[in-house]
Amino acid sequence: MDLRSGVSYLTLMSDLIYDVAIVGAGPNGATLALGLAQAGLDVAVIDTRDPQAPLKPDGRNFAIVTGSWRMLKKFGIAADLEATSQPLRGLEAVDGGTHYFGQPSVLFTQEDLDSPDPDEPLGQMVMAEPLQRALDAAMDADDRIERIAPDYFAGLKALPGDIEIELKSGRRLEARLLVGADGMNSPVRNALGIATEGRDYDKSVFTANVTLSRPHDGIARQLFTPEGPFATLPLKGDRANLAWYMQRGAAETLAAMSKADAEAELNARFSGFAGEMKIEGKAGSYPLILQLATKMVGPRTALVGDAARRVNPLAGQGLNQGFRDVAALIDVAEQTLRLGGEIGSPQMLEAYSQARRFDGTGTALTLDAIDRLFSNDANWTKPIRTLGLIAASRISPLRRFLAQKASATEDGVAGPMSDW
Ligand SMILES: Cc1cc2nc3c(=O)[nH]c(=O)nc-3n(C[C@H](O)[C@H](O)[C@H](O)COP(=O)(O)OP(=O)(O)OC[C@H]3O[C@@H](n4cnc5c(N)ncnc54)[C@H](O)[C@@H]3O)c2cc1C
Repeated sequence: MDLRSGVSYLTLMSDLIYDVAIVGAGPNGATLALGLAQAGLDVAVIDTRDPQAPLKPDGRNFAIVTGSWRMLKKFGIAADLEATSQPLRGLEAVDGGTHYFGQPSVLFTQEDLDSPDPDEPLGQMVMAEPLQRALDAAMDADDRIERIAPDYFAGLKALPGDIEIELKSGRRLEARLLVGADGMNSPVRNALGIATEGRDYDKSVFTANVTLSRPHDGIARQLFTPEGPFATLPLKGDRANLAWYMQRGAAETLAAMSKADAEAELNARFSGFAGEMKIEGKAGSYPLILQLATKMVGPRTALVGDAARRVNPLAGQGLNQGFRDVAALIDVAEQTLRLGGEIGSPQMLEAYSQARRFDGTGTALTLDAIDRLFSNDANWTKPIRTLGLIAASRISPLRRFLAQKASATEDGVAGPMSDW
């Protein structure tokens, strides 16, 4: 039996051949599915989550920068999110040292962006649950997307011309391209044997949604303290999402305290900076790690989002980096179709890898360097960071560069993100 007849046999055993099978219907996988379907591709999306079951309560909030927001607008998601999202009008960084009064600070606003629309915010604070709900509804409404869930990716097999995907249910699919959008422990990445590099920061972040005693004016504020940054990210109303980076164990202990004790701790440390805070719902914590896949692609496979890299969530870059992967993969798929090429071909995957490898790794390492610089009260770092903040606040090209980096509006961002 020649190889191709082997493939035919397997084809009979498998479901339809899809253009793209995506493992993971989280924010990255679902957004990718919408973009690829809009480009005219047939897409299967496999996820462990049952689409009929209500979403689990999720207190996460994402700082979605302008480039990411434009992509959600293009895919018809942004309108559903406007009622629950808070526009970001500015980003303030304060070098607190051991105390914050009178310390150098820098404030970026829309004016630093040189945007053709001076009223366009720097980004949006988007709540995880409405985002996932809107993405799920948009996937359900698209005839080109088949959701296969609840089911589990269990293995893959490269075939000539496509790839076979085996699910825990026993179902098999074939696709021209398989995408792992399956989160930081990525079973797809593991099945490909792609290693990861990185480090454990031995820190965790304490998170909680709070009501504030004073208006936030849409400003996201970060205070750099010797233990690590403390951030208030504005939510609708006089509310904020807090992130306090602490030594591993301390954040977990704080999250396990009673609401009253945790509030007392927060207010004792930060009420001068943020106003009095009252915790809403349940506080949480999660460990900080840097994890980079050593490759973004394999035979007929690509990784996006947390499967490709888990970054320090400082500056809310985690999901934005994933969205840049998504935008780049849609862009190369559209170009491949335009040029009559083949979805999942080595050329297409090479173009994707080239587009993302440098930016994703560069951002991860920059955030790592910022974390090291600002989480440290060593005397030698103090002049550098103070100079950095003063320079950033006074020199407008540098301000503009930093603000554009933070909101992903600089030139060269791939397709859907740069479209208006
Ligand atoms: C507490 C917390 C707060 C955060 N806050 C922010 C923030 O403010 N801003 C920001 O930008 N980022 C933030 N992040 C990071 C952000 O959550 C991630 O970057 C983002 O969720 C990654 O999305 P993803 O789609 O790549 O992966 P995920 O959201 O992890 O989704 C992966 C999907 O794959 C599915 N899956 C896994 N294994 C299988 C399998 N074998 N078969 C089928 N399906 C599978 C899972 O069910 C899941 O739906 C935060 C993370 C945490 C934990």
